[in-house]
Amino acid sequence: MKKVSLIRLTIVIIVVGISIIGSLVVYLSFSQSKKHALLQSYEHMETIIDLISQGIENTLDEKLKLLAILKEELLQKGVHTALINSLLEDFDAILYADKEGNIIKYWSKSEKIKQTNISYREYFIRTKETLRPYISDSFKNIVGNYGVALTVPIVKNNSFNGLVLGGILIGEKRVNYLLSSIRFHRSGVIKILDGKGIILFSEDPTEIGKIWNKFPIDYSYRSIRIEKINGKDYVVGTSIIPGTNWRILATVEKEDILYHSYRSLRNITILSAILLLTLFLVIIIPLRRLTTSINLLRKTAMEYVLGDPPKNLSISNYKEIGDILNAFQEMRNTIKEREKRLKEEQTYLETLLLEMGEGVIVLDNSKRVKFANKRFLEMTGYSEKEIRGIELLEIFDPNERESIKNKLEECIKNEECKGRISIIAKDKRLIPTLSSIKVLRVNEEALEYLIVFSDLTEIEKKEKELEDALEEIKTLNEELNRRSQQLEIALASLDMKLFETERAKEEAEKLAITDSLTGLFNRRFLEEKLANELIRVKAFKNYLSIVMADIDHFKRINDTYGHKVGDEVLKMLGIILKANVREEDVVARYGGEEFVILLHNVSKYDAYKIAERIRIEVEETSFKEIGVLERITISFGISCFPTDGEEAIDLLRKADQALYQAKSSGRNRVVIFTEPSESIHF
Ligand code: GH3
Ligand code: MG
Ligand code: MG
Repeated sequence: MKKVSLIRLTIVIIVVGISIIGSLVVYLSFSQSKKHALLQSYEHMETIIDLISQGIENTLDEKLKLLAILKEELLQKGVHTALINSLLEDFDAILYADKEGNIIKYWSKSEKIKQTNISYREYFIRTKETLRPYISDSFKNIVGNYGVALTVPIVKNNSFNGLVLGGILIGEKRVNYLLSSIRFHRSGVIKILDGKGIILFSEDPTEIGKIWNKFPIDYSYRSIRIEKINGKDYVVGTSIIPGTNWRILATVEKEDILYHSYRSLRNITILSAILLLTLFLVIIIPLRRLTTSINLLRKTAMEYVLGDPPKNLSISNYKEIGDILNAFQEMRNTIKEREKRLKEEQTYLETLLLEMGEGVIVLDNSKRVKFANKRFLEMTGYSEKEIRGIELLEIFDPNERESIKNKLEECIKNEECKGRISIIAKDKRLIPTLSSIKVLRVNEEALEYLIVFSDLTEIEKKEKELEDALEEIKTLNEELNRRSQQLEIALASLDMKLFETERAKEEAEKLAITDSLTGLFNRRFLEEKLANELIRVKAFKNYLSIVMADIDHFKRINDTYGHKVGDEVLKMLGIILKANVREEDVVARYGGEEFVILLHNVSKYDAYKIAERIRIEVEETSFKEIGVLERITISFGISCFPTDGEEAIDLLRKADQALYQAKSSGRNRVVIFTEPSESIHF
């Protein structure tokens, strides 16, 4: 569409506007002046016809008065010649008729009388009837000319007795001069018609005596209107002349009336045209200069846009335009500077986008690809030309399009989003990507979309390898677990074996130092222990008491209850002995039915108390449970380090000696070793 110049449009609007307004003003003032002129002409017409009517009425009245004077003189039988001469100035003929209509007297300058009776004439009949003066319509007079008659009746005793008549020939100058002296407008014309419509008087003598036939006459007292005569508009005024049937008809061409209006219209039109032209020039010249200036500005601006500014910048004569051009210069410098900066930034950004390791596309508002960087083209195999304008969904796996569409809608709502999407390459290969969409707001309505695609092919390959490796590791792990379990079982059985071996060893060791029947230490262990204890007590200078016990008459118990019961007795006594000493004290089966107790850090006398306590408990113990009905007693012999010796063998011997003494002195007793001379018995 061709653009319309604002200035031209303004000029056209101004010119058309002024023309319309001017025309309207002219038209209104013209129609106003026309109306005014018409009204004025109506008033004018009214005045004229009134004046004429008045004038004619007065004239006729005066003529009637003259006739009345004549009548008087006739009645008095003496008519003055002077009166007749004066009357003949006003009338063409004068006569006096009797009541029968017979003409008694007749005066005229030119006309000869041709008949003697006028009784049939209308004016005679009317005068006779009304007994009043009468002014007749036109008629062919007795001489044969057209004329009108003015009559005055002669009344005697209230009855008609003849009349006096004055006749006027129509068309005579004496009447017309009256009419022609009244001038109104250029085309104003006055006529007098009689009651029958015959033209009595007119400026145009050919019309006189003819019937008025241009338009019907209005018989109201007075009327003013517009009538068409021979296709032309006329303002027409009619009025009855009082006392007659006559009427005045005044016509004037409407155009003539409006002559002044038309002239003022012409003047106004000329004036308006001059004004319009002046205005036009006043507006056009500055506007044209403005247009030229604007065109210069436009040209300059275009030159700025296209390249370097014009070398010879023509500064306008007008200050404002010059200022604008200077402002242009400054604006251009600023724009140039900004352009340079923008270009640098753009180049930087473009390079960044193009060379980015990620695929990047930008979609326009209708979600079509508007930009794709080098990486994206490499990824997909499309050329820049092929990808441009493609609809976004076309680059995705057809199976995923629907869900992508929904996601995209969601993205638009949230301004951005991320997700794994497969895009479809030109060769239909699916490329797994991590896509990140960012909605860019270009302006209020338009949106653009920046989508960054990170190629996940390598990552997915690595992931797959990793998965495979993990799978392998899992299998290996399972195998390892299985082996480990087997190993654990093997180890457990090994442990068991080791434990058993250890236990066997411990058992063996225990067996080596333990008496199998009583569970007490055996003689070998006691002798080892005694040797070690002696070293200790010697070092710490402690006591070590040795209590040796032997069952009394055990042979007999064996014999009486059997060897088995004897064994049970041995077991029970072992328990009693163990129960009466401290944990750290050593209780051992020294021989068949002999026991030795080592009491660490216990003096001879304390050892005696302990032995005595055991002796009493055994003595009081019932062995019925194992079938021994009799009491069992034990004898004790005690020796003590360091009093009785320092060597094991010595101490054991001395305890045995004390035991021997206990046996020999009656059994069931405790004996502490003393040197033979000082052996003690309790
Ligand atoms: P006393 O000591 O009072 O003089 O009389 P005795 O009958 O106890 O005499 P002696 O000490 O000489 O007898 C030891 C007897 O003990 C010999 C044997 O029959 C018996 N004897 C030794 N070892 C065992 C054993 O392991 N089991 C059983 N049942 N009897 C044993
Ligand atoms: Mg014995
Ligand atoms: Mg014995």
